[in-house]
Amino acid sequence: MPFYINPKVTTHINDIVDFIEDLINKGYAYKGKYSIYYDIDKYPYYGQLSGTKKEQWEQETEFLEDKKHPYDFALWKFKKEGEPYWNTEIGEGRPGWHIECSTMSSKYLGPQFDIHSGGQDLIFPHHENEIAQSEARFNTHPWVKYWLHFGFIKIKGEKMSKSLGNIIPAKEFLDKYGEDITRFYIGSYHYREPIDINEESINQTKENYRYISSTIKTIVNEINSLDRTFYLDDNKIKIWKELLNYEREFINSIRDDFNTREATKILLEATNYINKNVIGSETFTLYFTSYNFYNIASRIYGLWDDIFYGKEYKENLTNILLNIIIDIRNELRKNKNYELSDKIREELRKIGIDLLDQGNKTIYRFI
Ligand SMILES: [Zn+2]
Repeated sequence: MPFYINPKVTTHINDIVDFIEDLINKGYAYKGKYSIYYDIDKYPYYGQLSGTKKEQWEQETEFLEDKKHPYDFALWKFKKEGEPYWNTEIGEGRPGWHIECSTMSSKYLGPQFDIHSGGQDLIFPHHENEIAQSEARFNTHPWVKYWLHFGFIKIKGEKMSKSLGNIIPAKEFLDKYGEDITRFYIGSYHYREPIDINEESINQTKENYRYISSTIKTIVNEINSLDRTFYLDDNKIKIWKELLNYEREFINSIRDDFNTREATKILLEATNYINKNVIGSETFTLYFTSYNFYNIASRIYGLWDDIFYGKEYKENLTNILLNIIIDIRNELRKNKNYELSDKIREELRKIGIDLLDQGNKTIYRFI
């Protein structure tokens, strides 16, 4: 799925400069020889996200001398030979890392927004500094209501890192396993826990995905041919309630901090239950309840759209609808109601469908 907005730092330098100027004017930033710095002592909530207090890191003496406090961080770095730079009102140079995120997120989402995500390794100092900058500029608290921090990806139990040489680029993974399996695989973990990528767990995911997909297909394909006369015996009422229970548990697990690991477990258990108790029952209510449950799951995972609304289904539906219309029109013709049968043909032609009468048979084609 494409992003609505996918901003790049290099096209937002003016906004970054405005942000920094505003911080200087409000007294939160000051100019040094090498950089413009954020004055952490001016901001009372520093450390609210990470619990980390103003941290001193290893720095060269010339930088320490340039700053008011050793823990102040750079908003703008003045031009250095061989580095890219922009000529701006606050001087020639380039933005610091943290200010980029504060500027672009606030520009498009406003001075306060609901969710900010990122890897767990970014909590400190990156996100802590983003908060300090943004709350100072916009005078909001909190700037972000919920932080979602993702667990690391591990490969066969080891952290994925360049130095270990065990990196799997996302594109390679997608090419090998496909988008749907990748999505379902990541969704079978909780976002905060580490994902341990190994062949065995991927194969298990593939199997689960196929199992759920084929169950949904059966439900979708069979539901329309079922008799809707309403009668449920006690046993079927029990099954129906159990299905509603699975649905409730599934939704609750998503409501509980997006616990997709738990949701996936429930989805699998429900699928087992549906295969044992619903498929083959020829009972519309049970199929329809299962259908609804899977439809909710489909929207949450962003999967199985093709089964619910896919090309195949739509083409099939168009075919059925057109044959119904052709039958009615032929009835009208038999009764010599040419006025109405011609109107049907004209109306269909307006939406790009041509009816061709061949003897006593009528066929359609798209024009
Ligand atoms: Zn960021």
